[in-house]
Amino acid sequence: ATQREKAIFTIIFMIWGIGKAVFSLFEAQYAQVFGFYLVEILFSNVLNVCIFVIYILKTRSEISRADRIFKVIAENATDVIFYYTLGDQKGFSYISPSIERMTGHPPAAFYGNPKYYYELLDSSDYHQADEIFEGRNTEASPATYILTIYHKNGKRIYGEITVTVIMEGEEPVAIEGFIRDITITKLAEDELQASRKSRELLLSYVSHELRTPITSILGYVSALKDGTIQEEEDVRKAMDIVINKSITLERLINDLFQLSKLETKQFSFRFQKMEALDLTIGLINKYSMDIEKGNLKLKTKIDYGVLSEVFLFVDPERIEQVYANLISNAIKYTKPGDRLLLQFLTDKKKENMLIHISDSGIGIAKADIPYVFERFYRAESPPEIRNASSSGLGLTICKELVEAHGGSISVKSRVGKGSTFSVKMPIYSADQIQQIEGKEISDAQRENPDRG
Ligand code: ADP
Repeated sequence: ATQREKAIFTIIFMIWGIGKAVFSLFEAQYAQVFGFYLVEILFSNVLNVCIFVIYILKTRSEISRADRIFKVIAENATDVIFYYTLGDQKGFSYISPSIERMTGHPPAAFYGNPKYYYELLDSSDYHQADEIFEGRNTEASPATYILTIYHKNGKRIYGEITVTVIMEGEEPVAIEGFIRDITITKLAEDELQASRKSRELLLSYVSHELRTPITSILGYVSALKDGTIQEEEDVRKAMDIVINKSITLERLINDLFQLSKLETKQFSFRFQKMEALDLTIGLINKYSMDIEKGNLKLKTKIDYGVLSEVFLFVDPERIEQVYANLISNAIKYTKPGDRLLLQFLTDKKKENMLIHISDSGIGIAKADIPYVFERFYRAESPPEIRNASSSGLGLTICKELVEAHGGSISVKSRVGKGSTFSVKMPIYSADQIQQIEGKEISDAQRENPDRG
């Protein structure tokens, strides 16, 4: 195109030059003829108009090119670009279509209502948003804010908003800015901070939990060695305490080890297909002795019909660990002679197996319920129950184990009435389980092709 433009300009200027020369040649001869001047003026102006038209066409094509480039950038960017006019015509003059991807609200919605940004925010952030969109912060420009934005579907995102206030003299006339979704970065940052804090907490807990039994073991062993404890009966008692404390320590160390492996996803499970009813019968048989020893009146309810038709994809040893833990808690926190109800059911849609373990024991206070699955958390309980073998890690491990099976664990409880711990795990039909197994096998082969 530039070659062509050059050629046109060259031709026009050549005509112009030749024209001028020709006119000057005839000027002396026809100076008196009025028509001669008229032709000359006409000739010059036609050329002027030609040049002017070419100039306009060229500028217009340049503008539309810039416009196209801007549109491509604005409409394909993941960030949202906006221009907000202040004054009488207050409102969004432009907001890029990416706003719909980010928030679920289309740009058109913003054009109609200058305060439409309220729709994306929590009311506690309205004030801050007004400050941004009224261009009040003219000192720090561009300024960056982080606001919590709600997607139309309820999902929460963190938006980093950078705005520049455009001034005309002393007056702010518009705001231009962009919004970036920094949810992933923000969450990672929060997680890092939380994990740092939890590591500190863990260290202080662990050193405390380990130190207490060790101090007591050391005390008794020294007393035995230097003869402070001599009576045969006292020696036996002291030995018992040392053994018990050592068992506690061993359990604590094992629990901590397993939990840290689970939390860092380094724990290896041996998942396998199992009929839900087989798992149920196995669990009931294995732990009925413990329940008997705990002197609890046992009642069981089993949904034989459905459980015999569906399958689980589980590591049976780990599910047994969860069950054993819940049963031993139920025994621990319930008076002998009280009731224990075990239910093995499925939910209405037959998507999950439900195991409910309901005791009629001391129960858990409302304030403690949200925390019982947190590590080292122990609710207030009478001193006779609060024995040395409690680590406060049991339920935390149960939760990790159940979640690794794609399930969940929850509790309902009332002080003095009892507690129900519920484990929920996905169940599958015979066809579904075959697909899962097939996938597992091909995954394993991909990872370790030699095994075939
Ligand atoms: P612990 O080793 O202390 O039993 P857990 O993690 O198993 O640790 O349980 C955490 C806390 O939850 C317990 O200290 C207890 O206060 C409460 N709890 C757990 N199971 C029951 C239950 N069946 N009845 C009452 N309280 C319970």
